[in-house]
Amino acid sequence: MRAIYLFKRDLRLEDNRGLCEASKNYKEIIPVFIFDPQIINQLKAQGKRLYYVLRAVEELSKGIKLYCFYERTEEAIRKVIRLSKAKALYTTSSYSWEGRERNEVIKRVCSEEGVKFVEVFDGFLVRPELVEPKKVYTHFYKEWLTHIDLQQCNTEDFIVPELPLPKLQDIREKLPVEHYDTFDPQECKKRLESYQFENYEKVRDYPALDLTSKLSPCIRFGIVSIREVFQKSYGRNEQFVKELAWREFWYHIALHFPQTRDLEFQEKRRGIRWENREDYLKAFLSGKTGYPFVDAGIRQLIEEKWLHNRMRMVLASFLTKVLLIDWRFGEVFFIEHLLDYDHVVNVGNWQWSASVGADPKPFRLFNPILQAQKYDPECTYIKKYLPELASLPCEWLQNPLKYKLPYYKPVVDYYERIKLAKERYIGHVPYPDSQGRTYEL
Ligand code: FAD
Repeated sequence: MRAIYLFKRDLRLEDNRGLCEASKNYKEIIPVFIFDPQIINQLKAQGKRLYYVLRAVEELSKGIKLYCFYERTEEAIRKVIRLSKAKALYTTSSYSWEGRERNEVIKRVCSEEGVKFVEVFDGFLVRPELVEPKKVYTHFYKEWLTHIDLQQCNTEDFIVPELPLPKLQDIREKLPVEHYDTFDPQECKKRLESYQFENYEKVRDYPALDLTSKLSPCIRFGIVSIREVFQKSYGRNEQFVKELAWREFWYHIALHFPQTRDLEFQEKRRGIRWENREDYLKAFLSGKTGYPFVDAGIRQLIEEKWLHNRMRMVLASFLTKVLLIDWRFGEVFFIEHLLDYDHVVNVGNWQWSASVGADPKPFRLFNPILQAQKYDPECTYIKKYLPELASLPCEWLQNPLKYKLPYYKPVVDYYERIKLAKERYIGHVPYPDSQGRTYEL
């Protein structure tokens, strides 16, 4: 008896619960990966991100005979079912908005073709539905810790039947990829083995040090098992574990508050009067805001398709609270560039940064001048990404409002703009908070 195994965000053979489950029940497995052009286009997945996925699939197919398609999921699945005469299709359950829709399509095709559809939970340490609905992260985290399930699995032996279906080499040339080597999926395991989790908290805030784990693409595409990531880090650094929980918190929010896919989590902050000025947006998207710290972040994102977390927060705060541009524009900008782009996590973080999301805090500001002074004290980060400014004194680069730089003029005056932003947020939030505090980090 045969079953199909459809790989999605679980591009690994070790501790892959879906594959383990399929192999327990079926002696013959047909492993499949689908490059769905609709998904690729929806994500504006551009070549580099696709190249990374291709490399991950390439690695996967070194360990297993993998059938690969470059066509719509529905058509590919139907083809495999009809040709293989499989009795079941196994895949992982999905908690992203698009992933759920895709699983519904697969389920329908299976039902039309008389094949059993089995979804297996994987990819999270805790099922998002297990924690009682929570709006505040710290409450979520406490309960989340009590549910962690670390059961690892082993795949039983199985046979992959030879079928006249395409393999990776048959479709590889058709994929619109663009060479990219800033990150390579092959490094995920090594990174996990060698990362100094103990130092995480001390070093994680400094973009120039570049010493966060950089595991996000590995986790996003399931190249490493999330249980393994937890086991490697647990007891070595609690803050790191908390970051893993943030990812799961956003999935928990997406599950219980699905409207947040498009709408602000905080009802009272729907309908903020964003300015959405085209010239400001243009300056931001091209990294010409005149604030070197902000522009360095934008350059890093565009060049490397990755961005340090502090810079993600600085950029998101700048776009929304300084330029007064709707967070959705920023979210789309990140879709276009982030290698680790994950719709649920991205939306959660953008809303959080714009002070419209879950885990609300009083109006939080990331002053780009103070941020540069505190987190890039030697301007190493700025100078790396804006080498044309490397000869200028660091103090000047950190504060373009005080020093006139031979560079783009600051697009706005930060201090003027935050006054305006505060006005715009008034009526949407109790501001300042009940103790009269505002937050400037
Ligand atoms: P580390 O600091 O080493 O953290 C370890 C892991 O914890 C990360 O790999 C990631 O899986 C998880 N994690 C860390 N911080 C967060 C967080 N704030 N929210 C959720 N999970 C987190 N992360 C994405 O994976 N995809 C996105 O699309 C994404 N968009 C973001 C947008 C904005 C505006 C902001 C502020 C953050 C966003 N993040 C996103 C979260 C975070 O910036 C990245 O996960 C992190 O920078 C990845 O680098 P790292 O692997 O070195 O992280």
